[in-house]
Amino acid sequence: MRGAGSGPARGRPFVVAVGALRRRPGSRLEVAVEGVLSDHDLRVTNSWVPDGAAVGFSGTLESAIGGVTVSGTVRSQWEGTCRRCLDTAKGELDIRVRELCVDDPDPELGYGVGSEWLDLEPILHDSVILELPLAPLCLEACRGLCPQCGANRNREACSCEVPADPRWAALVDLVSEGPQVGQATGTSKGSDDGRPEEEDV
Ligand SMILES: [Zn+2]
Ligand SMILES: [Zn+2]
Repeated sequence: MRGAGSGPARGRPFVVAVGALRRRPGSRLEVAVEGVLSDHDLRVTNSWVPDGAAVGFSGTLESAIGGVTVSGTVRSQWEGTCRRCLDTAKGELDIRVRELCVDDPDPELGYGVGSEWLDLEPILHDSVILELPLAPLCLEACRGLCPQCGANRNREACSCEVPADPRWAALVDLVSEGPQVGQATGTSKGSDDGRPEEEDV
């Protein structure tokens, strides 16, 4: 079970006291919490939460029969590897969340709440993982690397003669994005199709 807040809040910045709230269904509590998630290696393929960076939540807890609704905003910094120039990319996540925490959650999917304590950390953790960018850019207009000499064209103008072929940029993106991003690749393999000699006898 994830996040059933059954222990004391000491040293756990995301644990909120909800005893009074839970005894009055329909009542609300405004909360703002911030801290470092206990998962210190929070990352997806090309981005991550910087080590030691605080993740915050601000929003409203509302008491319901059998649970507590959590709605508000999760904020976190992120860092990553730019998919075009491989330099550091960074930014901030600003994620709207709305989740129901219940007394007896689904052990895999549900969020739990105790009679006295609610641990918001599982909600923060999951929302950040889902929003970390898979193919980040350092800048929307990142110019990427020179395909001939490898110079970072955001920082230097190299002397390579041929102007950049935009198809190279698309290839660089494909290589660094991997198969998750569905870019059109159909044109490059057309010549393999329809070989007349292919049939075995
Ligand atoms: Zn870049
Ligand atoms: Zn160059």
